[in-house]
Amino acid sequence: MADIIQLLPDHVANQIAAGEVVQRPASVVKELLENSIDAGANSIKLIIKDSGKTLIQVIDNGKGMSVTDARLSFERHATSKIRSAEDLFSLNTKGFRGEALASIAAIAHVELKTKQDQDELGTIIEIEGSEIKNQEVTVTPTGTSLCVKHLFFNIPARRNFLKSNNVELRHIVDEFHRVALAHPDIEFLMYHNGSESFNLPKSNYRQRVVNIFGNKTNEKLVPVEEETEVLKISGFVGKPEFAKRTRTEQFFFVNNRFIKSPYLNHAINSAFEGLMKDGSHPSYFLNLTVDPKSIDINIHPTKTEIKFDDEHTLYAILRSAVKHSLGQFNIAPVLDFDRDRNLDTPYNYENKRASTPTVEVDRTFNPFQEDRTVTQSKSSGSGSSSNYRKEPAKQWESLYVGLESKGTKTDNDFSEVQFESQPENASLFNGDKHVENKQTTYQLHNKYIISTIKSGMMILDQHRSHQRVLYEGLLKHLTVKESVSQQLLFPLRLEFTASEMDILQNLKEDLEHTGFVFLSFSEGNIEITGVPINVPESEVSIILEQLISDVEQEVPDSHFSATDLLAKSMAKSLAIKTGQSLSRLEQEHLVNSLFACKEPTVSPTNKVTFITMSVDDFDKKFI
Ligand code: ADP
Ligand code: MG
Repeated sequence: MADIIQLLPDHVANQIAAGEVVQRPASVVKELLENSIDAGANSIKLIIKDSGKTLIQVIDNGKGMSVTDARLSFERHATSKIRSAEDLFSLNTKGFRGEALASIAAIAHVELKTKQDQDELGTIIEIEGSEIKNQEVTVTPTGTSLCVKHLFFNIPARRNFLKSNNVELRHIVDEFHRVALAHPDIEFLMYHNGSESFNLPKSNYRQRVVNIFGNKTNEKLVPVEEETEVLKISGFVGKPEFAKRTRTEQFFFVNNRFIKSPYLNHAINSAFEGLMKDGSHPSYFLNLTVDPKSIDINIHPTKTEIKFDDEHTLYAILRSAVKHSLGQFNIAPVLDFDRDRNLDTPYNYENKRASTPTVEVDRTFNPFQEDRTVTQSKSSGSGSSSNYRKEPAKQWESLYVGLESKGTKTDNDFSEVQFESQPENASLFNGDKHVENKQTTYQLHNKYIISTIKSGMMILDQHRSHQRVLYEGLLKHLTVKESVSQQLLFPLRLEFTASEMDILQNLKEDLEHTGFVFLSFSEGNIEITGVPINVPESEVSIILEQLISDVEQEVPDSHFSATDLLAKSMAKSLAIKTGQSLSRLEQEHLVNSLFACKEPTVSPTNKVTFITMSVDDFDKKFI
């Protein structure tokens, strides 16, 4: 049989690679901005038309390229940034894969103009779908201009999957923010459809944050500075009272590169513990500087994930630095402005000496000693000795905390239960009719509902189950387009940014079908006079913020249905949370409502809502 394996032609390989590198216009923006930074530019201009669907152009005043380099830059794996594998371990540039330009040129119309300072004339190259259409000498200023038009022109499926202009623009702005925040020493300008969106002059870091997020931001920033042998931290965290419902103001940069790290995010959250309301997220803009050798940024093609050598240490340093700042810059409001600044420092590390904690040990303690009553009376009050032999009844009870019904199971019943002497009492728990009539559901750890069923038992996740119930109810309202709303006594006025307003505008009709009634809907704010019957007024802003963030974070290739997303988002916001204690009636109601659903087995986000265990399963465990 003839050989069948062939090497893919370059343009096909490039198109495949592009699938990874370029998911949406924002990916192109990121790659181009990073190239300009790597080229040493101190002024970078981003020009966008139709959220990048028509045009993305980046103009920089960096070092430019020679004629040969300009041509080579579009070859796959062509890079000036690393020469050998070792260089990967001491990376100082954003790019290193040499894939971006080749990928972009494979799926768009690209025009490159570039000139180096010492040259009189520059080069212009035009490429369409990896094919060079034109290469000439041209007059152009020092630096590089890269123009990307008709993105995905040869991959219609990709093009069709692009989200609305608002959503794509949001992604572009996010990338722009990330790059601009990491480089306050570079001037950035952004234009969209001919008007200026951002004008960020070279400045210090605080000024950059304020220029991006608005003047109001200034008063909420608390500086964080720390320098240790392994890690330098600088930047700001937001005061807790300004915390947001969404995670839009959370930025970590490692060696000037934006990264996402749930682990380090947790370090910050834990530093804020006790200062924040549930469900709100602290803002932070933090730059971490570490030895490039101690990180691996190669693990993800879009490069926002990163691997650290010693994450635990970083976690601890970060947490304590943030905690320290929150303490030092006394976050409570200060009315007396002339007060001695030092008074604002609640503790002073240098002058404080830690004292060794004292531990008292009961040296007569013998866990194997039969008669423990003597030792116990001796050590009473210390609270450290176990008393399970002395009072078996109490221990029994603690296993069933929250489970006792007002019926037969009183304290006395439990105190009579003893393993060996009175085994007949076990019949209380073996699911005979007597008990089942009394109580069929139990709540475990305020998280699961346990319900007895014919074949054994069923365990429901309360949060997920309730999401399913609410989701199906909401979908019904949305499709039947009739719902009940409750009138508010006073109209509720909420403010949103322009891009948030766009998102809400798109969902306005659907929101009305769930029961929202809007009095006005314009210029940065909305007024609400009615809300769905099951939505408390205090939750309205939370629901809308959650909804906006869900729309923004919508994964690129899932089917976008506004109605479905709204139902999912509201179900998530309104569902009973883990940790909430439920009365027996509520537990039973939840179980019944779940099984009245069309798809009771999974939550709206496809997670398991309940599991069952049959008596057979138990029998197998008890052999
Ligand atoms: P990478 O950035 O990973 O090296 P790219 O495909 O993004 O790969 O770019 C390829 C090469 O083109 C870069 O290594 C660089 O030498 C050159 N280049 C790209 N953009 C610019 C620019 N704006 N200014 C100067 N040189 C550039
Ligand atoms: Mg690059």
